[in-house]
Amino acid sequence: MKAEFGRMEIFENYSLKSLNTFGVEARAKYFVQLRNEQDAKELAKTDLLRKHPYFILGGGSNVLFRDYFEGVIIQLENKGIEVAKEKNKGVKVRCAAGEDWHSFVEFCVRNDLGGLENLSLIPGKAGAAPIQNIGAYGVEQQDAFKELTAIDLMRGKLRKFKSRDCEFGYRNSYFKKNPRNPYLILNVSYQLSKEHKYNLSYGALQEHVAGKKHHDLSLQLISDLIVDIRKSKLPDPDMLGNAGSFFKNPVISAEQFRRLKSKYPEMAAYKLNERQYKIAAGWLIDKLGWKGKRKGDAGVHEKQALVIVNYGSASGEEIFNFSEGIRKDVMQHFDIGLEREVILI
Ligand SMILES: Cc1cc2nc3c(=O)[nH]c(=O)nc-3n(C[C@H](O)[C@H](O)[C@H](O)COP(=O)(O)OP(=O)(O)OC[C@H]3O[C@@H](n4cnc5c(N)ncnc54)[C@H](O)[C@@H]3O)c2cc1C
Repeated sequence: MKAEFGRMEIFENYSLKSLNTFGVEARAKYFVQLRNEQDAKELAKTDLLRKHPYFILGGGSNVLFRDYFEGVIIQLENKGIEVAKEKNKGVKVRCAAGEDWHSFVEFCVRNDLGGLENLSLIPGKAGAAPIQNIGAYGVEQQDAFKELTAIDLMRGKLRKFKSRDCEFGYRNSYFKKNPRNPYLILNVSYQLSKEHKYNLSYGALQEHVAGKKHHDLSLQLISDLIVDIRKSKLPDPDMLGNAGSFFKNPVISAEQFRRLKSKYPEMAAYKLNERQYKIAAGWLIDKLGWKGKRKGDAGVHEKQALVIVNYGSASGEEIFNFSEGIRKDVMQHFDIGLEREVILI
């Protein structure tokens, strides 16, 4: 059903099933698709967002809809990739928020612009990349981030955010920390390089390029390798509903680390500094026997303990309850509180 709100066309009781990679059925009271900045300004002029809660949806690859959403879902579909500035060996490239992230990375790789190739094949849209500061294979988007432009949906005003304004952290940013922030990201700019420094810190990448010299490497080769590695490890959401890693890797104190390590010498961990260690959440979950476990249509992937999957018709609530079972178990056995990476709606 459609309704008019000012000059905007708004869908009512809208199904979100095809708009989230878990593939769970959920409906929103209102759904509005924006084509561009002008549409966003129009939306800001209405009182729709003052009257109802709202949520900005990208490609739905990092969200779990638990229930009916009693508010407005906003999706931005703007397009365009533009080389904004070239200076010596650096190139600033601006990408519209509605572009598919991987297509943007492919554009950069094709044009021999380095910096984002390790982030190949991460699902979702470019506008969502700064939200949790997406990262993979030793690189985070903040490493090449230059700035973004967002619109305050309450006031209709544009604002530029530089890196320090975004407060990037591990799977975190100003935007994710403040879910009530009014900013819709319109475009993101990255500072890319024509002179390549490949990041091969990740073990599986090193194995693949062993014996190769710098001049044998290329952005395309790295990107292709990452695509292959990811395809072999992670379930494709088109085949099996999921949202990638469900939990973040927890950070614990050095003291707790030492206690656990003496009990579990094989525990996978990474030293952050003298006081803190990052533990592989997948290792904790696997250790407790959850890998491949299933309750109804909600389960843990057979190869990836950190990935919760929808085997068919699990509801958002069922997936949530299943994930809480994992959280409780990890807390009981390791005294570690797992934090969700996926956003609950
Ligand atoms: C198979 C698989 C593998 C994955 N691997 C990785 C990985 O390696 N590394 C990683 O970091 N993530 C990974 N993810 C998670 C996911 O791909 C990223 O978080 C991605 O950036 C989400 O993009 P999206 O467009 O789907 O955003 P959504 O899931 O729709 O939204 C995510 C957040 O971004 C906000 N948002 C979206 N667009 C905008 C906008 N224009 N303005 C303001 N806010 C916005 C939403 O409100 C929400 O808070 C993976 C997911 C899957 C399914």
